[in-house]
Amino acid sequence: MPDPIRERLTGLRRDLHRYPEPGWCEFWTTARLVEEVERIGVDELAVGPEAYDPEDRMAIPPEDRIEEWFERARERGVDDDLLTTMAGGNTGAVAVLDRGDGPAVGLRVDIDGLFIEESGEPGHLPADEEFRSETGETMHACGHDAHVTWGLATLEAIAESDFSGRLVVFFQPAEEVSGGGHPMAESPYCADLDYLFAVHVGLDHPTGEVVAGIQKPLAMCHVDVNIRGTSAHAGKAPEEGNNAIHALGTAIESVYGIPRHSEGMTRVNVGRVEGGTASNVIAEHVDAVAEARGETTEVMEYAKSELIHRFETAAELHGCEADATVESESPRADSDPELAEVVAQTAEGVDGVDTVLPAADFGASEDATFLMNRVQADGGLATYLVVGTDHPTSHHTPTFDVDERSLDHGVDLLTESILAVAEDGP
Ligand SMILES: [Zn+2]
Repeated sequence: MPDPIRERLTGLRRDLHRYPEPGWCEFWTTARLVEEVERIGVDELAVGPEAYDPEDRMAIPPEDRIEEWFERARERGVDDDLLTTMAGGNTGAVAVLDRGDGPAVGLRVDIDGLFIEESGEPGHLPADEEFRSETGETMHACGHDAHVTWGLATLEAIAESDFSGRLVVFFQPAEEVSGGGHPMAESPYCADLDYLFAVHVGLDHPTGEVVAGIQKPLAMCHVDVNIRGTSAHAGKAPEEGNNAIHALGTAIESVYGIPRHSEGMTRVNVGRVEGGTASNVIAEHVDAVAEARGETTEVMEYAKSELIHRFETAAELHGCEADATVESESPRADSDPELAEVVAQTAEGVDGVDTVLPAADFGASEDATFLMNRVQADGGLATYLVVGTDHPTSHHTPTFDVDERSLDHGVDLLTESILAVAEDGP
C-alpha cells in the first residue's frame, strides 16, 4: 500500500477506538467513515436506508437507546443531513468503486462496539496512550475498530491501484447482535458478486498468523421470552396464582435437557432472567433471554424450535403463557477453498506474516454468513479470513487490545488478494 495510507492507519484506528457505539447506534462511527470515504473519492456511496431495506434489520434495540446515541452523535458534531438519513437506527454504509471491466468483488467489515467498560488500568495500552473509550460504557472489545480501518485503507489502496472491476465495501452495523448481516445480504449491493472477502482480527491467532478460510461457524439464534401468569398472595391464597417463576424454572431445566442431534453438535443457553417482585407474591411476569446454536443451520433450527416449545409447554403446565420472539439469527456458511487458496498464496508474500493456515474451525458465530450464503447462491466464491493479532486478553474483555502491527498486515493482505482475483481469478 502507498506510504501515506500506511502512516494513517494507527491514528485512524485510535480515533475509532475512542468512540465505540452499540449495534444500530453507530451514528458517529458511520459519519466518521463516510468522511474518509468522501476524502478517498468513490463512484457510489450509500448510507443506511440507501444501502439496505430497514425492514430487513434484526435485533433492533429499544427506541430510547437509539435516541440517546443519536443525540450523543449530534453533540459530537455529526452533520444534520447525515443524521436525518440514519434516523431510527439506520446506520452503516456501502462504498463502491467502479473501475471498468473485471469481476465484482465484495469486502465486508463490521463496525459496532460492545457494552463493556474499558479498563483504565496502567498497562492497558489504550489507557497508557490515552485513546481508551470516552463513552464510559461501551468498548471496541472485539477489534471492529481495526476492521473499519482495514475497510477504509483497503478501499483507498484499491482506488489508487490499477484495479479493473467493481469493488463493494460493506461497513456493516450490529454484528455483535447478529442484526446487520441479513439486511446487507439482501441489499442490491450484494447481488451478483463474483468474490466476497469477510475478515476478523485476532480470535486467538497471534500477530503474523493468517487463516485463509474459516470453516464451521455455528449457526445461531437469539430468543427473547416472556412468561405471564397471575399474581396472588403467597401465604393466604397461593392456589389462586399462576406462578411465572415456577414456569421459568421448569422451562430452564427442560431447555438444558434438549437431546443432542445425530447430525451435528448443538448448544443452548439461558443467559439472563428477570422477574418477580417480593417473597410473598406469586410472580406474575418474568423475562428470559436464550440462545441456540448448531453445527449446521438445520440442527440450529432443531435446537431453536425445541427451546421455544419447552418454554411454551412449561408455561402451560403452570397455567401461564409464554411469548417467544426470535430477535436475530445467522446461518452456517463455509469458506470456498479456491478463494481461501488465493488468500493463502497472497499471505505468503505479505511483510510480517510468518504463518499461514489454509483453514481453521471457528467455534463461534458470525452473521457475515448471510453475505457468504448470498454470494455462493449467486454462483460466486466467499471466504472468511482471520488476520492474527497478539491480544493481551480474550475478545469481549475490558483489557482486550489489538497489536497495531496487524493493521498493516490486514490492509496488505486484503488489497493484494483483491488485486489477485481481479487479475487472474482464483
Ligand atoms: Zn467481532
